[in-house]
Amino acid sequence: MTNLVSANIATLKPYQPGKPIEELERELGITGSIKLASNENPLGPSPKAVEAVRQAVTDLHIYPDGAIFKLRERLAQKHRCDMSEILVGNGSNEVINMLIRTFCQPGDNVVVSDYAFVAYRICATAFGVDVNSVPMHDGYVHDLEAMAAACTDDTKMVFVANPNNPTGTYVGEKPLTAFLKSVPEHVIVVLDEAYVEYALAKDYVTGMDLRDVRERLVISRTFSKCYGLAGLRCGYAVGPAELFDYVNRIREPFNSSSLAQVGAIAALDDEKFVLRSVSSNEEGRKKMRLALEDLAPRGVTWIPSQTNFLLVGTPVEGTRVYDAMLKQGVIVRPMAGYGLTRHVRITIGSESEVERCMDAFVKALDEVHA
Ligand SMILES: *Cc1c(COP(=O)(O)O)cnc(C)c1O
Repeated sequence: MTNLVSANIATLKPYQPGKPIEELERELGITGSIKLASNENPLGPSPKAVEAVRQAVTDLHIYPDGAIFKLRERLAQKHRCDMSEILVGNGSNEVINMLIRTFCQPGDNVVVSDYAFVAYRICATAFGVDVNSVPMHDGYVHDLEAMAAACTDDTKMVFVANPNNPTGTYVGEKPLTAFLKSVPEHVIVVLDEAYVEYALAKDYVTGMDLRDVRERLVISRTFSKCYGLAGLRCGYAVGPAELFDYVNRIREPFNSSSLAQVGAIAALDDEKFVLRSVSSNEEGRKKMRLALEDLAPRGVTWIPSQTNFLLVGTPVEGTRVYDAMLKQGVIVRPMAGYGLTRHVRITIGSESEVERCMDAFVKALDEVHA
């Protein structure tokens, strides 16, 4: 008898999302919890997007536009490219998935960093594609030279999240440009810019400005983070039309819902909301950093971040701190699944959420005697 599933699926660990508030409250019989586990926007969704979605619900009996015309047109305008260079997905996770399914065959490989966003690994493994994971520099920064050197004839794609999740770190213009030039021509470089709006470092550069440097470059973005639309499921990529022509052959007919399409267009027109989100994040990031600095004598560390979260080093196992915080109704993200056993990842919340979180963090340290 043949196996029901392939070995790569039999051994695959499913993606572990942040714990939903409802689940925690059901389990502990508590109310008023906060979730700082999935890098969601503490300001909520863009109000313009909410209004557009509200208006569109009356047409839910109609199939969405399978060509995603208006959203792609709007995105092409934003990124000064042709509509054929825009690929929209049900979240950028689907974009990653479609790219792997289109361009990789079993036996091929993709190159990622240790501590890269786990979705690349999961998607590749699910399709029987090998994952070549490259150690990071000290400080949890992508080692781009090593990643380029790791590419073989069988490498189809290299994934670089910039800034990266779960580390919050980034690579600057110089190393990134050199990398794009040095990766072998046949390889598709995927730059995942889920947190681009939060990256304010002077030497940060978006891949949108480096499209001339390399032919096979795909840049992915999402509405899930700074636009506050994680529940809507909308992400997209900008890249060569020649590549997306192939992707469109496997893309599901209605992979972007009608609500996602109108919500995303409205969100793009809500620049004020993005600016507010970024400045609120800056404030929160500062506040959290100061609170964490005070805890340095207790063995707490943190990694400089260009995102809306911080990877925090804990003096004991991260899961113990996570559990002790859960009991106080504060959900953060344990990192053991990434092999970061003495860390938790904390999303930067609103001012009051940061206060409550840091309070719960200190009490958790007390409880585990750290
Ligand atoms: C959150 C995140 C995404 C976004 O995923 P969506 O499917 O668009 O919600 C993509 N890449 C990284 C690195 C992320 O952290």
